[in-house]
Amino acid sequence: MGKCMIIGCGGVASVAIHKCCQNSGVFEEILIASRTVSKCDALKEKLSGGKTRIRTAQVNADSVDELVALIKDFKPDVVLNLALPYQDLTIMDACLATKTHYVDTANYEPPDTAKFEYSWQWAYREKFKEAGICALLGSGFDPGVTGVFAAYAQKHQFDEIHTLDILDANGGDHGYPFATNFNPEINIREVTANGSYWEDGHWVETEPMEIKREYDFQEIGRRDMYLLHHEELESLGKNLKGIKRIRFFMTFGQSYLTHLRCLQDVGMTSIKPIDYNGQQIVPLQFLKAVLPDPASLGPRTKGKTNIGCIFQGVKSGKPKTYYLYNICDHQACYREVGSQAISYTTGVPAMIGAMLVMNGTWNKPGVWNMEEFDPDPFMDALNKWGLPWQEDFHPTLVD
Ligand code: NDP
Repeated sequence: MGKCMIIGCGGVASVAIHKCCQNSGVFEEILIASRTVSKCDALKEKLSGGKTRIRTAQVNADSVDELVALIKDFKPDVVLNLALPYQDLTIMDACLATKTHYVDTANYEPPDTAKFEYSWQWAYREKFKEAGICALLGSGFDPGVTGVFAAYAQKHQFDEIHTLDILDANGGDHGYPFATNFNPEINIREVTANGSYWEDGHWVETEPMEIKREYDFQEIGRRDMYLLHHEELESLGKNLKGIKRIRFFMTFGQSYLTHLRCLQDVGMTSIKPIDYNGQQIVPLQFLKAVLPDPASLGPRTKGKTNIGCIFQGVKSGKPKTYYLYNICDHQACYREVGSQAISYTTGVPAMIGAMLVMNGTWNKPGVWNMEEFDPDPFMDALNKWGLPWQEDFHPTLVD
């Protein structure tokens, strides 16, 4: 059916690329373009026996000119941005200049401020509309599938949704005292920031990790989880009519938290450049360089993830609760695509988002979040492409 240009060749991109190759009826040709072209070539080599034609290229995605030249040469139907949040705006600019559809999995974050929000990308709405192209924002799991789950609950299960708790549990064990499951720099910036949740139309801010709860997760067991600020709270607060409260919780083990606290205390998580032997270095970027590469965790990680949404609201005049979730097994993911479940649960929805934009099912001019489209085709695709969802009509609630 068409051509997709994938930018980045890290943990998430590797899964999305495997999945595009499994879906060769849609993804006839892909271009893998990233900073380190040897990674793209190695993946091409591994996947070259299939029907999807693969090209590779070196690109600096901070340069709009380089991106425009590459897009003009390859002429993709859609650009799938799986580089880092810092590159979102340059890639959107290149899509505008070439009138090419755009999909990503994380909202823009300026490199020098640990702050992420949609305002920068929502500011492109009119420009994308005028150009007649579509930008689909946040097509990972959280954000991503969580927005699709919310749209599905709204469409099929509730007349009104009053509260939403998003629960992200990783029961996987990689055997290292400390490692992050996706890009360490992005991950640590996220978890060391203040927490916040959305209540009665405004943000309530908390200290980092201030709010802790325990929850008994299906197929994982009891885990401590902590309230974090998370990007989908911002769009769901606007797009879920009548919602009164949205919170996001993520599980962390004691070893992870103890190491993180020490690293913070000694200044290793700072993003302020320091002078070291006459050279400017960012402590967090140096830390990333010494931590295990998330892509290397695949063979070592055992256990499961369980990510989902608990809704409370009203249906036909009666109070109702509903839990929609996915359980994913790290080792099953590794056997299938050579990656652990965190990359898998992000890479699969990234492929699905690009597919739905490419085949026109989810394609309208403008800049959109996941919950603004009909959830049904995405929900069907999750079952088909490796992330089947489950329902619970009597879930334990989070107090
Ligand atoms: P990785 O660090 O593993 O991969 C990032 C890739 O982008 C690398 O291949 C890197 O190149 C490339 N890259 C970085 N900067 C540039 C640049 N300037 N030009 C070209 N290529 C560049 O990250 P992940 O795969 O873990 O994460 C990818 C994205 O997915 C991130 O934005 C992350 O926030 C998001 N994510 C979203 C989730 C969700 O559920 N929505 C969950 C997890 C992640 P090199 O190989 O040279 O380093």
